[in-house]
Amino acid sequence: MASVISGKEVSAKVRAEVREECERLKEKGVTPGLAVIIVGDDPASRVYVNNKKKACAEVGFASEEYALPAETTQQELLALIDTLNKKPEINGILCQLPLPKHLDETAVIHAISPEKDVDAFHPSNVGKIMIGDYDFLPCTPAGVMELIHFAGIEVSGKNCVVIGRSNIVGKPMAMLLLHENGTVTICHSKTKDLKEICAGADILVAAVGRPKFVKADMVKEGAVVLDVGINRDENGKLCGDVDYEQVEPKASFITPVPGGVGPMTIAMLMKNTLKAAKLQNHIESV
Ligand code: NAD
Repeated sequence: MASVISGKEVSAKVRAEVREECERLKEKGVTPGLAVIIVGDDPASRVYVNNKKKACAEVGFASEEYALPAETTQQELLALIDTLNKKPEINGILCQLPLPKHLDETAVIHAISPEKDVDAFHPSNVGKIMIGDYDFLPCTPAGVMELIHFAGIEVSGKNCVVIGRSNIVGKPMAMLLLHENGTVTICHSKTKDLKEICAGADILVAAVGRPKFVKADMVKEGAVVLDVGINRDENGKLCGDVDYEQVEPKASFITPVPGGVGPMTIAMLMKNTLKAAKLQNHIESV
């Protein structure tokens, strides 16, 4: 039976630490500020944005929401980002993705000032992660690492397999494991012998976006299994990329869905925004 790593517990701990630091920062006259842009009325995006605003209030940050209509032009969106880049009380800017089809996501990511890019999607921040000298880490992979550290799992020398190669999760996830001296393999939709490769993993991270994709025969006895997926099963119930019932008995550690990696993402966003506020105000420690 596996030990369950609770993202609820670890994210609450991270948010409490951020809240404490935020209080001390406020004593120095700095209130971290996050601007969240949402374009259109995608219901999932609306839930994510509401959760981010709630998290800001909980840790003591100021937050500004910019809810733009679906027909917003590229020019209008870039003009707003330019204004926010120059606004001193805003330390972090986040544009909720996906954007409506007529908008260019890459251009939007590039427009956000790297100093305020608390999602760490700007190429400058991505490059810094590659060389291991970074200010911000992308929130979801950073959240997975936080769970690994909390559980006291050693990455060095371990066979780590990441399923998924997206810019947001898979690729940076692999890089963070590599920075901690894991021997990392990235699998994707064209990978041959996926089952065999996964079955060799000491640490397996699933970021595929397919409900219950990882079955027991893909998991080594005693492996650490981290499930990034957020999917709906055939009954519309929330589930991960890992078939939890099958895999849990074989794993040494496992993250559940919901309540695993999910809550970590927003907690790490708060951590990044706090760091952005400190960097922009030249405050090293509080
Ligand atoms: P994505 O669709 O961009 O990438 C999925 C990856 O899976 C691709 O690289 C693809 O090559 C790989 N893949 C697809 N089918 C495969 C197969 N049959 N075999 C092997 N690899 C395969 O998705 P993403 O944005 O990286 O997200 C992945 C999952 O994580 C989704 O369920 C998403 O909802 C979830 N997610 C969760 C959080 C969070 O906060 N917990 C954040 C971001 C994404």
